[in-house]
Amino acid sequence: MTDKLHLGHYARKRFGQNFLHDETVIDKIVTAIDPRPGDNLVEIGPGLGAITEPVCELTDHLNVVELDKDLAERLIHHPFMAPKLTVHQGDAMKFDFSSLLRNDAKLKIFGNLPYNVSTPLLFHLFNFVDEVEHMHFMLQKEVVNRMVAGPGSKAFGRLSVMTQYYCHAIPVIEVPPNCFKPAPKVDSAVVRLVPKDKTQRSAKDTKLLNTVCLEAFNQRRKTLRNSLSNLLDESQLKGLGIDPSLRAESLSLQQFIEIANWLYDNKQ
Ligand code: SAM
Repeated sequence: MTDKLHLGHYARKRFGQNFLHDETVIDKIVTAIDPRPGDNLVEIGPGLGAITEPVCELTDHLNVVELDKDLAERLIHHPFMAPKLTVHQGDAMKFDFSSLLRNDAKLKIFGNLPYNVSTPLLFHLFNFVDEVEHMHFMLQKEVVNRMVAGPGSKAFGRLSVMTQYYCHAIPVIEVPPNCFKPAPKVDSAVVRLVPKDKTQRSAKDTKLLNTVCLEAFNQRRKTLRNSLSNLLDESQLKGLGIDPSLRAESLSLQQFIEIANWLYDNKQ
């Protein structure tokens, strides 16, 4: 039997399908999500229901967004889960998560994400952080390392700055390849994301913050005077109290925000 066949479904590589089957890992994820009746829960990529089913046991309703039509169809007809599910068949990267808000209950989003699209999907989800209570995602371990990395670390980059701008990011568990069918080629990890309060997020324009990160980390070996030369010059960096001979990986989140806000005030 091919390792791609799991519970009667052939895993589709193009949809990043690696199905979780390790009960201990599933228990730890469900414990971290802590689902309760009345929660506004949303799962991205429920697949064959490895996490969906135990969550359904603890709550009364769950929205799921699944791209694969066959898997969405299976969930719609599943004898135990179907009565508790609202299945949205479609692409989570285009999904309007704010459409799921009801009765002031913020969203609790989770998923074992398709690794091939995880970074753009995370950036899409950051658009909804004000409507979110918390998020738990299984990702490639290297992606989680980048999300939680601080200045001075090799893993520190645009994903670290933007993740930590929007959220507190806390690693939950590491998960080896043999916990999935088929086994991915990389190690995985679960991260917990708790959105920061709006008052803690002081960028005047998040697109500008993203642009500064793109420029700074695009040429991460270069000093800021060179990598940011399209945006501001050496004396302007010094005016912000930033040493132009530093590299992007030495800047703090606050310094990235200060550069973006200076651009907003002076270059619009
Ligand atoms: N949750 C299941 C599990 O843990 O076994 C499946 C996880 S599998 C890594 C990723 C799931 O996301 C698959 O079910 C896949 O079909 C679905 N998927 C892939 N791309 C998607 C997208 N853009 N939007 C929504 N679901 C997607």
